[in-house]
Amino acid sequence: MPPTMKPLPEPSPDTKPFWDGLNEDEVRLQRCADCGSWVYYPRARCPHCLSAALDWQVVSGRGRIYSWTIGRQPTHPAFAGEVPQRLAVVELEEGVRLTTTMVDCGDEDLVVGRAVEPVFDHGADGMTLLRFRPA
Ligand SMILES: [Zn+2]
Repeated sequence: MPPTMKPLPEPSPDTKPFWDGLNEDEVRLQRCADCGSWVYYPRARCPHCLSAALDWQVVSGRGRIYSWTIGRQPTHPAFAGEVPQRLAVVELEEGVRLTTTMVDCGDEDLVVGRAVEPVFDHGADGMTLLRFRPA
């Protein structure tokens, strides 16, 4: 990979429905049909009861900032033009947490507990990334 090319997700059979959902402006999460737990990241078995009966459901994508930081050093040469990056862990209403980038906001918007909504970042490469902004 050339140093200026960004690493991209590589969907697997277990994660493809998640990435397909983002392409259609939907946040899709797995939910265990046996114990009811929401599951993220996507996987083959429920981490709570080990059931393989995981269904995909569309959720709102709304949540709150659980934690955040400002990245001032690029983690990869391809991100050198994007620092500082507003990195966050967002807890969705369903209780799962995901690591993301905050957009359409300033540093002052990075507050634990702040309500956020999804932003579907459609890249020219055909992959859509899930980012968030203040709601
Ligand atoms: Zn389960």
